[in-house]
Amino acid sequence: MTAIETERTEEAVPSTLFELSGVRRVYRTGGGEVAALDGIDLTIDTGEFLAVEGPSGSGKSTLLQLLGALDRPSSGSLLFDSWELSRLNDRAVTRVRCRDIGFVFQAFNLVPTLSAAENVEAAMVPLNGGRRSRRSRAAELLDRVGLANRAHHLPSRLSGGEQQRVAIARAMANEPRVILADEPTGNLDSTTAGEVVGVLRSLSVEQGVTVIVVTHAEEVARHAARRVGLRDGRVVGSVAAPAVEPAPAAGEAVTEVLDSYVADAPGEDPPRARRG
Ligand code: ADP
Ligand code: MG
Repeated sequence: MTAIETERTEEAVPSTLFELSGVRRVYRTGGGEVAALDGIDLTIDTGEFLAVEGPSGSGKSTLLQLLGALDRPSSGSLLFDSWELSRLNDRAVTRVRCRDIGFVFQAFNLVPTLSAAENVEAAMVPLNGGRRSRRSRAAELLDRVGLANRAHHLPSRLSGGEQQRVAIARAMANEPRVILADEPTGNLDSTTAGEVVGVLRSLSVEQGVTVIVVTHAEEVARHAARRVGLRDGRVVGSVAAPAVEPAPAAGEAVTEVLDSYVADAPGEDPPRARRG
């Protein structure tokens, strides 16, 4: 096969990263069973910037935990890069999680006694050799999120937005293929949220990282290339949104589309009071 033919073949292969079919996750509690996810069919491509939206209790965090190999489906199939995650042994799953997945949480979860740079370096210890290379990579990552001049500050001396950008740099420490962010701007004001989503977006657009963000925030979701709605553990719709900076009106239009498919969802229950 010539080099050109090889290239063509590679181009023809769809770059599906996650493929979920009929995924269910049932929690058994004292009061019976809760189907947190109730038959999810979803395909996510490499390099996508996807927002997952839905009310509290709709299964968003459960979905992220499955995508991040922190948990396994009760039934159904979840392929990551063509691997059925539930068929891998614990060691292989841990490897996927450490090497391929970066997590970002609402509460930042930085180590308070370590500087920004040390927080990023610490994430590299399990996988990456020399101390010197960890240090220079941490500096590079902090520079990339606009925090070169804050590298030696403790988290307590950083603003919320800066702390979350450190957490993103940390999530990128081992060059993951996927960033999973659960309500990453939940503790931030809308201006700061915009900065954080800008950083996440650049990872997807400029570096080809697959970014999946669970969010309630319109200013976050409207930057995503696709928005998937969840309700009671089911996908209630998926809309492609403009990936370039939309005018405010365009963002509103997308919300209306999303609201309309949520409202049209069959068997819809009233929003739950319970917070997830
Ligand atoms: P969201 O992140 O959208 O708020 P979750 O994925 O946290 O939703 O929860 C989905 C449903 O599963 C909710 O009804 C929640 O109460 C239930 N749930 C989540 N985690 C557990 C658990 N560990 N044990 C029992 N029920 C759970
Ligand atoms: Mg949640």
